[in-house]
Amino acid sequence: MKINAPKGTQDILPEQALIWQWVEKQVREVFRVYNYGEVRTPIFEHTELFARGIGETTDIVEKEMYTFLDQGGRSITLRPEGTASVVRAFLEHNLAAKTGVTKLFYFGPMFRQEKPQAGRFRQFHQFGVEVLGENSPLIDAEVIAMATEIYRRLGLDALEVRLNSVGCPVCRANYRQALLDHLTPRSGELCASCQRRLVQNPLRVLDCKSPVCQGITAEAPQLDQYLCEDCASHFAAVRRYLDAMGVVYMIDSRLVRGLDYYTKTVFEVVYQGLGAQNAVCGGGRYDGLVQQCGGPPTPGIGFAAGVERLIITLEKQGKLPELSGAPQVYLSVLGDAPKLKAFEIAQNLRAQGIRTELEYAGRSLKAQMKTADKLNAALVLILGEDELARETIVLRNMKKGEQREVPWRELVTVIQEELG
Ligand SMILES: [Zn+2]
Ligand SMILES: [Zn+2]
Repeated sequence: MKINAPKGTQDILPEQALIWQWVEKQVREVFRVYNYGEVRTPIFEHTELFARGIGETTDIVEKEMYTFLDQGGRSITLRPEGTASVVRAFLEHNLAAKTGVTKLFYFGPMFRQEKPQAGRFRQFHQFGVEVLGENSPLIDAEVIAMATEIYRRLGLDALEVRLNSVGCPVCRANYRQALLDHLTPRSGELCASCQRRLVQNPLRVLDCKSPVCQGITAEAPQLDQYLCEDCASHFAAVRRYLDAMGVVYMIDSRLVRGLDYYTKTVFEVVYQGLGAQNAVCGGGRYDGLVQQCGGPPTPGIGFAAGVERLIITLEKQGKLPELSGAPQVYLSVLGDAPKLKAFEIAQNLRAQGIRTELEYAGRSLKAQMKTADKLNAALVLILGEDELARETIVLRNMKKGEQREVPWRELVTVIQEELG
């Protein structure tokens, strides 16, 4: 019986992998110039890390994690997101002691057992950053500006930043009470999820997509009127810096983000024209998270962005560059005698950085030319017994349809000229 990849996973085949490599390269370049260092954490962690770092009552921890007991009876979970692992690594290696501010990025697979749908996978990929140890609203603005720069660099200009402040535990407690006072009398009208949220985390009722719930929350008190002085001035400063950097944003008072650990600044980058689920990137400040994970009080801020959705968007918008996985040179060999020399030439071209494919089977010239054509090789070299005797090789430019005989010692120079 044929075995296929598990539901919700996909193979990224060579042609598609070129796109992934290109995206990854652009993303890494932005992180490089903003002076972020890469951290590669394990794909699995102790389950407890996510229970503490994401929150026991979140959908991720309650329903979506791949959790299993290993051979030693330990509870292990495939990472459903990047932040908890980065914070763990930050504490485990005492990175705070090395520099004042720690700026880290990651790029890799995450795992959540969600219902697979277009653009949503059970093994999916995210890149993201975490900045640990800095309170300044300047870093909030910088992180947001950097996120938008990544998308712009990839050619996605129709961006919108949605911004909000969810306050600190002090002002949020006041707001929570005001929101409960507003929602409780009408709790019977809320959808089933929101009735549950009302008990666990009433702020999340604000981002419910149900029109009935949105109607009820439309008249609810707004969080920004409840921000304490510190949170209000932090939020004002973030907006001022974004204005100064020319980052366009929209204040969205419904934006609370799914996770409980956010404090103060929360944001999403939205790509217009993606439909309902249009956030390509989301993040915010999480000043309480490091402590929640067992560390000393440490401010933090970060974002995470999905790669699959980004690539789908790039494809739909026609923003992908021409990427070729074709060999530059196909080396055709006729007869047995030239085989060893052909191999030597191929190795020499490869050493010069020229992407070279070689005929291995010794088929007819016609069959070899067919293969070279199928592979879309730019140049074909043909080495037969006559050329071997003359220490030359036939070079055919496939696009121009021209060919000529080239002495071996001129070959690299000629190929480089032909390839431009
Ligand atoms: Zn506050
Ligand atoms: Zn609802």
